[in-house]
Amino acid sequence: MDAGIYVHWAFCPYVCPYCDFAKWAWDARAADRYVAALEAEIDAAPSVRGVTVFYGGGTPNAYPAAVLVRVAERLRARFDVRPEAEASIEINPDAGAPGDLAALRRGGMNRLSIGVQSFVAAELQALGRRHTPADVAATVAAARAAGFDNVNLDLMFGVPHQTLASWGQSLDAAIGLGVEHVSTYGLTVEAGTPYERWQARDPGAFPDDDRGADCYALAIERLTAAGYEQYEISNFARPGFRCAHNENYWRNGPYLGLGVGAASYRDGVRATHTRELAAYEAAALAGRPIPGDAEELQGDERTGEAIMLALRTSEGVDADAFRERYGVDVFTRYEREIAEFVDAGLLVAGDGRLRLTVRGRFVANDVCGAFLAGA
Ligand code: SF4
Repeated sequence: MDAGIYVHWAFCPYVCPYCDFAKWAWDARAADRYVAALEAEIDAAPSVRGVTVFYGGGTPNAYPAAVLVRVAERLRARFDVRPEAEASIEINPDAGAPGDLAALRRGGMNRLSIGVQSFVAAELQALGRRHTPADVAATVAAARAAGFDNVNLDLMFGVPHQTLASWGQSLDAAIGLGVEHVSTYGLTVEAGTPYERWQARDPGAFPDDDRGADCYALAIERLTAAGYEQYEISNFARPGFRCAHNENYWRNGPYLGLGVGAASYRDGVRATHTRELAAYEAAALAGRPIPGDAEELQGDERTGEAIMLALRTSEGVDADAFRERYGVDVFTRYEREIAEFVDAGLLVAGDGRLRLTVRGRFVANDVCGAFLAGA
């Protein structure tokens, strides 16, 4: 079976106060043990053919390039990954942190995703990030020198004290660096994080929903004017530079997740590894199945999820392909939901497809969620 492969590198040089991912602050011994567990899991994992690879985290480049390349080589051999396959790696642009990018490039990684978040120093400080806008420019230059011709920058709106003007500054700076891909995410205040306590103390520091919508509109306007195609709700690419790994997620394609907290989807079953580091490592090192949750999506639940994912993309839902794959006529099965959202100007139906309108993208979670709820 062909599948996208995700590898979770769980350590970060420091922990950001808004972050809810499965990650831990750097500790050399713990980080070594984690690599051993990851390698053991790679050896024991189900056999799939890796069509794309994504090394995410955490902060993969908290580890030396030699370790990342060693694991990548093991993974390529184990999952028969072709040399030309898209292989993305997330990196942190802190001064001195990017590490040996040329070694990563030689080691088969060909797409770099840089966790920028903002080009405004005060916002970076509010996010607890330790890089500066100049560090980002230096990292992009180092990436080019190392031979990376496919670079993404992650940007974040909804940051405390952010204004529409300062968000525009970040968008312009990203465009000015000439990267191939930009992802724009709205900050979500997650339960249990220091940000949740900050918001409770000082809600006025956080932009409201209207500001968030204005920021999103500005991102669409500036990035599309600069030649990026909005091919998914949060993702913009120059022609030929869409992220194939993520496109597979939105097509509801199979993927294999390796590492603590990682998720997989195969044969209609979605499985998520435990987020308990010790439990993950003990199982991986002993060659036992990794503990976690698994659920088999069936019937309406499966089709509702597939629609939700497809609607995120500019292609939307292709009704013929959907019928062939799931045996369901979207326009008949979801007639009521579709009519309601088309009337409201949030969905458009035509040419055998169902897509979000530009207005629909602003409330995508509500629209997509209705298909799940209607399931
Ligand atoms: S670097 Fe990324 S994964 Fe690590 S703590 Fe910060 S936001 Fe979370």
